[in-house]
Amino acid sequence: MKHETRAEALAAKLRRRMVQQHLQGRDITDQRVLDAMGRVPRHKFVASHLQDQAYEDCPLSIGHQQTISQPYIVALMTQLLRPESNSRALDIGTGSGYQAAVLAELTKEVYSVEIIAPLAESAQKRLQTLGYDNITVRCGDGYHGWPEQAPFDLIVVAAAAPDGVPESLIKQLTLGGRMLIPVGTSNQELLFIEKQCDGHVKEATIAPVRFVPMTRKASNH
Ligand code: SAH
Repeated sequence: MKHETRAEALAAKLRRRMVQQHLQGRDITDQRVLDAMGRVPRHKFVASHLQDQAYEDCPLSIGHQQTISQPYIVALMTQLLRPESNSRALDIGTGSGYQAAVLAELTKEVYSVEIIAPLAESAQKRLQTLGYDNITVRCGDGYHGWPEQAPFDLIVVAAAAPDGVPESLIKQLTLGGRMLIPVGTSNQELLFIEKQCDGHVKEATIAPVRFVPMTRKASNH
């Protein structure tokens, strides 16, 4: 086994504290989600000058005017999705790749789409270096999902859709599939969508949230 450096030991200690205080201390009760958040090294998903803030419960800049989401929100979204070890997941807005990594700990395969090319490239490299061989990253407009790999049991979206839930994403859910997506512009809401076994789509509002807006490729307008 690789010898744990002092920096890694400190990161592990801060990570355990984050899980206890900010996740268990609130309403994250799914032990698999708590364990996954306890394993993924969030400090490796941010720039070196932000590493000492990586286990605080806040979003952090990842450049290109984008952020890695707050740990509590990642945990809440992951818990609500009810991931299973044989699930196939679609992650829209790869960003740093952190949400994809948390999902990859809990599912069979994760497909992740990022619209900003340098972010997609660096996330892919990072996830590869960390050994996540069940994540595939693609650069593109996630508004359309990933039709070639559909359907998905779980879909998680990290950028707010201004005009409601894209029909293309609902189409790409399996029967019984679940999706979390922020919608709106200045006032956003996190929506939970479940495609029931009879094909009926059920929608519930989870909480007011603040995500970066979903951007679109000019060719799609
Ligand atoms: N899940 C990320 C959060 C990144 S913030 C993480 O864990 O770090 C949201 C990301 O969505 C940004 O990187 C942004 O570039 C991306 N994004 C915005 N609109 C998009 C679109 N239409 N398709 C794909 N990605 C998009």
